[in-house]
Amino acid sequence: MPNSKPAPAIVWFRRDLRLADNLALCKAVETGAPVICLYIREPGDPLAGANGGAQAWWLHHSLVALDESLKARGNRLVTMTGDPLHLVEWVADKTGAEAVFWNRRYDGPGREIDSDIKGRLRDKGLRAESSPGFLLHDPTVVKTKQGKHFSVYTPFWKAFEAGYQPPDPIDAPKRIAAGSFDLEIEPIDGWALLPTKPDWAKGFESLWQPGEDGARALLKSFVGKQLRAYGERRDFPGESHTSRLSPHLAFGEISPHAIWRAMDAQNRKADNEDETRFRKEIVWRDFAWHTLFHNPRLDSINLDRRFDDFPWQSDSKMLKAWQHGMTGYPIVDAGMRELWQTGTMHNRVRMIAASFLIKDLLIDWRDGERWFRDTLLDADAASNPFNWQWVAGCGADAAPFFRIFNPTLQGEKFDSHGDYVRRWCPELGKLPDKFVHRPFEAPTEILKKAGVVLGETYPKPIVDHGKARDAALAALKTTRNETEED
Ligand code: FAD
Repeated sequence: MPNSKPAPAIVWFRRDLRLADNLALCKAVETGAPVICLYIREPGDPLAGANGGAQAWWLHHSLVALDESLKARGNRLVTMTGDPLHLVEWVADKTGAEAVFWNRRYDGPGREIDSDIKGRLRDKGLRAESSPGFLLHDPTVVKTKQGKHFSVYTPFWKAFEAGYQPPDPIDAPKRIAAGSFDLEIEPIDGWALLPTKPDWAKGFESLWQPGEDGARALLKSFVGKQLRAYGERRDFPGESHTSRLSPHLAFGEISPHAIWRAMDAQNRKADNEDETRFRKEIVWRDFAWHTLFHNPRLDSINLDRRFDDFPWQSDSKMLKAWQHGMTGYPIVDAGMRELWQTGTMHNRVRMIAASFLIKDLLIDWRDGERWFRDTLLDADAASNPFNWQWVAGCGADAAPFFRIFNPTLQGEKFDSHGDYVRRWCPELGKLPDKFVHRPFEAPTEILKKAGVVLGETYPKPIVDHGKARDAALAALKTTRNETEED
């Protein structure tokens, strides 16, 4: 039996854990009815819920932050666990709600659930309304001249650039009316999202501020400072010239429209290279989702089916060495350790580490994708598999497989003084710049002076890159319709 009048409206929060620029929330508030702010933990659906351990940590803090913001506006978050297909309807029945609002999601399983729920609610005569979600454009909006979806980035960017204007900002509501409803709220603490034994997320606290306020503060500081050298310095992992906004975007704590507007507000020249470069990265995110929308099994199926026959090696020892940053290639190891300790990894190093797993170790990109999904704070259903396929050479507009990164040269190019490697592999800290990316070539005297004992304090390379490269190219030749080296 409904126990409050007038009939409330439900906002179903998902990957949009913010109050500003939240169309679904705005529509619910505009009804003038009490608003039920619902978050459903959807177990068993890794695409709809928290992806992995690292994201569970973020989700906890993000929900707590959202709840606090709602409380400051006279409302609160109603947290429940279960199958949304039943729960949304159940909450509507129990409270007598007449309207349900949400912002869209674009992964296959999520879309199916949402479309079923919409149908069921509408069949019962309720208003069920979804709004554009967490992208600049919904994935169906940008089309080729022939009305198809894009599989190459540059024309996507051009079409996008021509058609995109950010919508006007929507301020966070000052008050969000709450009714009194007999709903059992599950305490977020009870969800055990935070690791305990061991508490591997200890290092995260000082680095991140999950929630809308943290996202806004980061954007402000990025636009004011680091953006200035973004184009030139974004590839150097020892420096901090990227925005670090990705986990906030992954949880929808900030809308990409707000990021776009923040750059517009700088009144920079239209041809400003840093700004254009940055906008292009944000549009890569849209492109990844566009690709997932049209290829819902992006995390499991090669977009280029010629790779279906690729002779991947199954070697758990090698996989472990990579996961734990013990490959003997400093830039790879530094990246993998940064990931473990901070929940993120610099983009350039993600490319090097992914290339190493796929091409030096010949381990299936899906194994790497899974590890990233579990350890990255920003893992999302599109960007992660999209980028793994891109590195593997089987993805949309991908780097060809035969372009194989040399991890030593990449390290020397983008971390020439070894600052990044020294930060994450302190056991190499005393090596001179010349050898910090190639300890395996350092003379005994130099190793000794730096306190490095290969095979003891730091691993010997688990593969010889030159030989591994040859093996990778040979493996490529065994696949159907082999791709020629250029
Ligand atoms: P910035 O350089 O400040 O870029 C701004 C924003 O643009 C990012 O926050 C992100 O939302 C978007 N962006 C930038 N580069 C890319 C890209 N290549 N693809 C899609 N969006 C991009 N990014 C994720 O958000 N989630 C993932 O799960 C993810 N997995 C990746 C896996 C691999 C193997 C690789 C090579 C890249 C992956 N990326 C992923 C892309 C990229 O590494 C991160 O978005 C970036 O490092 C985040 O740091 P930032 O916010 O400081 O980026």
